[in-house]
Amino acid sequence: MMTKPTQFETRAIQATEPHDDETGSVANAIYPSTTFKRETDGTFKSGYIYSRKANPNRSLLESALATIEEGEFALAFASGMAAINTVLQSLKPGDHVIVPDDAYYEVRRTLGELFSTWHLAHTQVDMTDHEAIKAAIKPNTQLIWIESPSNPLLKVTDIKTVADLAHANDALCIVDNTWCTPVLQRPLALGADAVMYSTTKYYGGHSDSLSGALVLNPAAPESFKAQLKNIQNLSGAVPSAFDAWLITRGIKTLKLRVMQQVSNAQKLAEFFAQHDAVDAVHFPDLANHPQHELATRQMPDGCGAMISIQVGSGREAAMAVIAKLQLFTPATSLGGVESLVEHRKSVEDALSQTPENLIRISVGIEHIDDLMADWQNALS
Ligand SMILES: *Cc1c(COP(=O)(O)O)cnc(C)c1O
Repeated sequence: MMTKPTQFETRAIQATEPHDDETGSVANAIYPSTTFKRETDGTFKSGYIYSRKANPNRSLLESALATIEEGEFALAFASGMAAINTVLQSLKPGDHVIVPDDAYYEVRRTLGELFSTWHLAHTQVDMTDHEAIKAAIKPNTQLIWIESPSNPLLKVTDIKTVADLAHANDALCIVDNTWCTPVLQRPLALGADAVMYSTTKYYGGHSDSLSGALVLNPAAPESFKAQLKNIQNLSGAVPSAFDAWLITRGIKTLKLRVMQQVSNAQKLAEFFAQHDAVDAVHFPDLANHPQHELATRQMPDGCGAMISIQVGSGREAAMAVIAKLQLFTPATSLGGVESLVEHRKSVEDALSQTPENLIRISVGIEHIDDLMADWQNALS
């Protein structure tokens, strides 16, 4: 008998294969059925009853996500925000949450506009400042939320140190790993209780499926894990069978895509770093990044494929550069095979600290020579 494959690429293929003895199908079927037949003895043939509770496509996706991340189990959602809301709903009125000062802006909005009425308090902290985190911890702090690298300034948080700090204070530590994926960063191995994904981004990889996920560490508290499962089932923010199928398919090529994107991003960041028209480059794999040493230790195979640059004196300068690009589509979101570019400040809310002259770039899998030529032209 063959030994269990140890490599990510192999496990990603194996974990997403169908188990279809009836047809021998090599590709996965899609099961849009919302309901499943009950046998005369009252049982259900494969355990499926109703698709809000479980669906064959979602079950395969969830088991594959848990396998490649080496988690205990995974839960799939209708969006990344639905996964985040599930975590927040598991907390109680009177609890306190610590989030990064530059957290994904809709996380800030969710806490400020929705969960404040549930009396869930939160504090925003610079996660690179461990003394500031310690000072923000209160007796009722239940969760420290990490996003690393951060959006859009690509600040890097020391996941192990912050997870240890959370646990020393009986709080959970959860990492939004959307930008890195398990190809580049493994928060569960660093002590996080769970990782959260907007699978809309790199997991799906083709900008055609809105979905999200949580993957749980076996060491996370049992009551928390049970509560998440319960909320997923009762709140019903689950992906459709088709979305689950698309993300499952995305897992098969995840590493290939991400490594190509990382390779392109590294070259593009170096190009920006030496270009006179670029005032600042935010990319953790550049030697002058403030947390470069931590970044390359925590993400040894590459620091992702997101880059932010600052050009000229303000919004107009940034917009003028964006208008000249031909291969980078101006659009929000990230992680797809196609390169995107965005004036981030105008997408975020009024509280956003993003500089006006900042351009956020999601590097795709196109040929680097073409991508570089496009920027050469736009910056000239
Ligand atoms: C896109 C994104 C989210 C939100 O996910 P949706 O799928 O859009 O709900 C959360 N965190 C990060 C880092 C993201 O990029």
